[in-house]
Amino acid sequence: MIKLKESVEKLQAYFVNDVPYRVKLDANEGSNYLLKDGFKIDSFKPNLYPDSDSKVLREKMARYYGCSPENIMVGNGSSELINTVINAFCEKGQKVMSFVPSFSMYQTYCDLCGAEYVGLETERDFSQNIDKLIAEGRKQNTKIIILCNPNNPTGYVTPREDVVKLLDSINNSLIILDEAYADFSEISVIDLIDKYENLIVMRTLSKAFGLAGLRVGAMIANEKTVKYIWKVKIPYNINILSQHAAEQALDNIDKVKEYTKRVKELRQELRESLKELNFKVYPSGGNFLFVKSPIENLFEKLMARGVLIREFKFDTVYNRITVGTEEENKILIEEIRELM
Ligand code: PMP
Repeated sequence: MIKLKESVEKLQAYFVNDVPYRVKLDANEGSNYLLKDGFKIDSFKPNLYPDSDSKVLREKMARYYGCSPENIMVGNGSSELINTVINAFCEKGQKVMSFVPSFSMYQTYCDLCGAEYVGLETERDFSQNIDKLIAEGRKQNTKIIILCNPNNPTGYVTPREDVVKLLDSINNSLIILDEAYADFSEISVIDLIDKYENLIVMRTLSKAFGLAGLRVGAMIANEKTVKYIWKVKIPYNINILSQHAAEQALDNIDKVKEYTKRVKELRQELRESLKELNFKVYPSGGNFLFVKSPIENLFEKLMARGVLIREFKFDTVYNRITVGTEEENKILIEEIRELM
């Protein structure tokens, strides 16, 4: 076989648990509430390339995110945009730093382009010490710092004053705020993109909008930075169907707000139920809970009962459970009770 390049030869493919299930609480997807009756497509021309600049979509996103269309670049999920930015800014060997545990794909994107990923340990309670990040970021001369806020998988929310401190302290590294879950916590720094030229915010329609299957994400930064990065945008990256559907979704912001409010209520209810069952439940600003279970091998045991959650092995075993619908959460709790 022809060999892959050295930096990617050691990679493991992204693991997706492809087993039959009754309840899927393993990938932080949203519910299908926005376009559940399908979406309307009056006329579209599949023979033509889509609008490469996603103009209408960016206009509608700008209204939701409180910025202007010139501040936005759309990607095939925020995954594509994170990869593109790391690739565009990092020469081989340059450093990209984030806390660990955090979203595991940051390391993969670094490996893909030969950047060096540096993971900075969170505290024992998974809180993130911003002074440590600032000190290490400076010391190690990092090209990019990525802060996932709220953090996946731990749910930790970095307070706004800490994010501002980071931005005030570091101006010679790119700072990416991965806000994939910010819709569930109202913690966002999109309003600061004009103040800090080195700030890039990543958002996605995969979670709060319940549109993971469409693959639509957004990179939000000041106009100069967006224009600069446009050089490396893949042409026609968002297909026609996804553009149309995402535009319609963005015409229903009231429903999105209603939904995220409901998820927060359900998150609180699920937290209480799990605590009653002697789980350690960490504070979470996302549409998921990060937990330590009193039941050994919970992941496998629930999977055998058709309930999918995620397992993480750090110092010990932890689980991440997506907040489902009321019905899904009920099934989860019933199955856990039976296992006890
Ligand atoms: N960032 C974080 C923290 C995530 O958890 C995810 C998805 N799991 C992404 C980015 C990528 O999301 P998408 O590509 O669906 O926009």
